[in-house]
Parts: sequence; structure tokens; C-alpha cells
Amino acid sequence: MSLDIIQKNSLVAGNPVGQGDLLVVKNPYTDEVVGTVVMATKSDVEQSIDKALQGGRKLSRHERFQVLEKARHLLTQRREKFANLITSESGLAIREALYETGRTIDVLLFASLQCLQDDGEIFSGDTSTQGKSRKIFTFREPLSLAVCITPFNHPLNQVAHKVAPALAAGTPVILKPSEKTPLTAVAFAELLYEAGMPCHMLSVLLGPTSEIAEPLVKDSRVQVVAFTGSVPVGKRIASAAGYKKLVLELGGNDPMIIMEDADLGVAVHLAAEGAYRNSGQRCTGVKRILVHESIHDTFVEKFVAKTKEYVCGDPFDPATVVGTVIDEASAIYLETVVNKAVSQGAKVVWGGTRTGALMQPTVITQVPADSDIVVHESFGPLAPVLSFKDVDDAIRLSNSTAYGLSAGIVTKNMDNAFRFIKELHVGSVNINEVPGYRVENSPFGGIKDSGLGVKEGVIEAMKAFSYVKTFSVPW
Ligand code: NAP
Repeated sequence: MSLDIIQKNSLVAGNPVGQGDLLVVKNPYTDEVVGTVVMATKSDVEQSIDKALQGGRKLSRHERFQVLEKARHLLTQRREKFANLITSESGLAIREALYETGRTIDVLLFASLQCLQDDGEIFSGDTSTQGKSRKIFTFREPLSLAVCITPFNHPLNQVAHKVAPALAAGTPVILKPSEKTPLTAVAFAELLYEAGMPCHMLSVLLGPTSEIAEPLVKDSRVQVVAFTGSVPVGKRIASAAGYKKLVLELGGNDPMIIMEDADLGVAVHLAAEGAYRNSGQRCTGVKRILVHESIHDTFVEKFVAKTKEYVCGDPFDPATVVGTVIDEASAIYLETVVNKAVSQGAKVVWGGTRTGALMQPTVITQVPADSDIVVHESFGPLAPVLSFKDVDDAIRLSNSTAYGLSAGIVTKNMDNAFRFIKELHVGSVNINEVPGYRVENSPFGGIKDSGLGVKEGVIEAMKAFSYVKTFSVPW
């Protein structure tokens, strides 16, 4: 499908920036130009900060609810248009792009409802022997300015997970979306302005890291940096940010652990969904399949058969399940990772090759536990299968990487399920589900290299974009 070339601008408090360098966005499948974005400059960074801090009319909770509700209605009407845009610039299969727009509609719903939800607590002063007859009340105040930096893998939903909770909390945002998927981000910002969001509440700046992202991260007027992306960039941000709040949602290397008592049909389905959905480009994608040794061979046979159903091809074809990865360089990298594993003794039983930016869903067995494909995050549809002896071994293997995002377990034995819940060093454990299962308002986020344990999800993100103030009165 070809679209007219889309022309967008970085936005300073709703105003398109003037003439600047052009960021050219290409379709990873066809290599055609999808659109351009006029990039921002250092002076746009200053102006964005000034506009956000000057503020404007403060919206009541009900007005914030109305803006988010209107945005939800507009997005629902334009769902296909947004899905087409996501697929054009990211190469994600159209069915994934449509799914993503549905998730974003949920984000807007939950954020709007949260505007109507009171968030205070009351503490009675006379509850201790040192007490007094007073009451302490809590309420949340917005932060003065948030910088949000987002990755490419969910071009719309990652942006919505930052901007919608911030708007619900009343905190202005300067957004720096991925340079690989900027068109969806700018289109979403335009939709929010149309829905009535005051312009000072959002700027969207594209441009070189040294001119835009780095100065924003360091700026002392910024009270919170909310970053979703890779571990190296997250750590760089953590050391550069200085004295400010940080929300870091970083990479993952999630295991799908399949016990000997697992329903194999369920296990095969969940492993394939986890490994291949979104072209394997999910922080919570299944990056390691750990299978009990007694069922390893049967599992692999069924899993290869299932993998063949994950048709890889033209992202705009409704029959395509796996579109491209974000660009050809990423596909080449994934192919290298596979080849390196093979040189260390692994065996490719299905896939393993690429055409342009299309990486075939790939099943790999006999993978050494210390190979890159096991130890590091490979952001693509690669499914390395490893075997384990017992629960202790599975827990040891699972905890053996630097990451700690989430894990999925397939078992019918609840004693084992509870051991995994307690002993895996991750932010989320899902029993008989993929590691990434969540709803948009449930707490989400990792530990170890995957994050600082500060959660996102609409409700937790609203806490991150605000602070608790207390007041007390005689009672
Ligand atoms: P990335 O390379 O880390 O980039 C993420 C964002 O950071 C982009 O907007 C990028 O801008 C910007 N950036 C790059 N260098 C920066 C710097 N020095 N200072 C400030 N910002 C900088 O990640 P990606 O490749 O887009 O996304 C894939 C990664 O995101 C994977 O590791 C994945 O696991 C992770 N992820 C995590 C979660 C989670 O919730 N835990 C969710 C989704 C994805 P440019 O585009 O201009 O380079």
C-alpha cells in the first residue's frame, strides 16, 4: 500500500517549528519514503521548556476527563488511519498495528476515568501514644515539567502511556519520540490538541540526540524523565539526569518456562505468541524458551509446526502475522546473532534467514547458556529453546541474565507456580500466560537492568508524574 508522502513538523506547544533539517522516514518493507518531519533546534528546546513552565489555563479534573474522552473517540474513528501509519513507518504487520490502536484506546479510557478518581488518604493523629487530635490529609500535585522519551517498537502506545497519564495528572510534557517512528507520535499529538488539550501541555521534538534529548535530560527545570528504551541508553540517561525523578522502562530477556505437566497446546501457543508477536520487538517478548528436559523434543516438534503458521511477509497483507523488524540493519544484526549461536553449537531448526528487513521467525535448539542469544536481548522473532532438569534449575537459568522484566510459566502445579512467583527476580510473573500479559492500567515494569522498580501503567504513571502533598488540621 502506498500513501502520499506525509509532511509533519516538530511541535513547540502546538506550533509547528519553522524551517529546519528534515528527518526522512522510510517504510522498512518497501524502502519508500513515507514522510518527513521538520526537526527541532536548541532554541525550540528552550521555547518548549518556557511554554510548559509559563503554563496556561489549568484544566479541572472533569475537563481533563473530557479531553481524554474526546481523544479516545477521535482515535476510535481514525483507528485504521493510525494503524496504516504505524505499519508504514515501522513495518509491523497491519493486524499488530490495529491491535496497538486498540490498546491505546484503552490507555485513553483508563486515563480519563482516573481523572474522576480521588487519590487522597487520611491519617488520624490520635493513633499513637504520642498522638494528637489532628488529621493528616494527602493529595497529589502535578510536577511542573516531564520529559518523555519513547522507543520505536510501539509507535503509538508507548507515546500514549506517557502523555495520557501526564495529562490526567496535570503535568506538561516535552516528548522526544523515536526518530524511527516519529510520524505516529506527531499525529497523536495533533489529535490530542484537536481533542482540546491546552497547547502548553505538550511539545514534540525530533532532532539530534546531542541537541534535543541530552539537554532535556540534563535540564534542572525538568522534574521527571520518563524513558522507555534500551538498557545502555537508560543507564546513560540515569548518569546524566542529575537531581530529578527517573522512570526507566528498559530492555528485557523474558523466559517462557514450560514444566513437564504443561498442557502442550497451551505452551506451544503461548511460546509462539510471546516470541513472534510484534515481530518479536516487545520488551516483554519471549526471548528464551525454557522447557523441561522430559518434554523438550515433543515441544520442539510441535513448536516448529506452530511457527510455520506465523506467516512473515508484506506488513499490509492482512494474512501477514510477522512484518519486518524496524530496519534492515536490525535484521542483519539478528541474522548475525543466529549465526554466532550456530558457531557455538546451536542448531537452527526453522527460519534463521532474512530478506531485507524481514526476519523469519526462527527456532533454535541446543543453545549454549552463555551464548549472546541467551544472555542478551535480541529484539526480533528469535526463539532459542533451552532445557532444564527441575524447578531449581529453571529458576537458576531464568535468573541468570542481567534483566528482570517479566516471566511466563506453563504448569498445572500450583506449588511450583508459587515458587516461580516468589523466586524469579522480575517485575511480573504470569502463570499460564505470556510474560508480557497486562492491562493498560495495571502496574508494569522491571527490576535489575530492566528498570528501577518504578512502575508504569496508567495509575502508576500518574503517580510518577505527580507528588504527594500533605496537610493537617486540628480535629
Ligand atoms: P533506544 O535506542 O534506547 O531509543 C529509545 C529512545 O531514546 C529513542 O527516542 C532515542 O532517540 C532516544 N535516545 C537515544 N540516545 C539517547 C540519549 N543519549 N539520551 C536520551 N535519549 C536517547 O531504544 P529503541 O531501540 O528505540 O527501543 C528498543 C528498546 O526499548 C529495547 O531494548 C526494548 O526492550 C526497550 N523497551 C522497553 C520497554 C519497557 O517497558 N521496559 C517497552 C518497550 C521497549 P533516537 O530514536 O533519536 O535515537
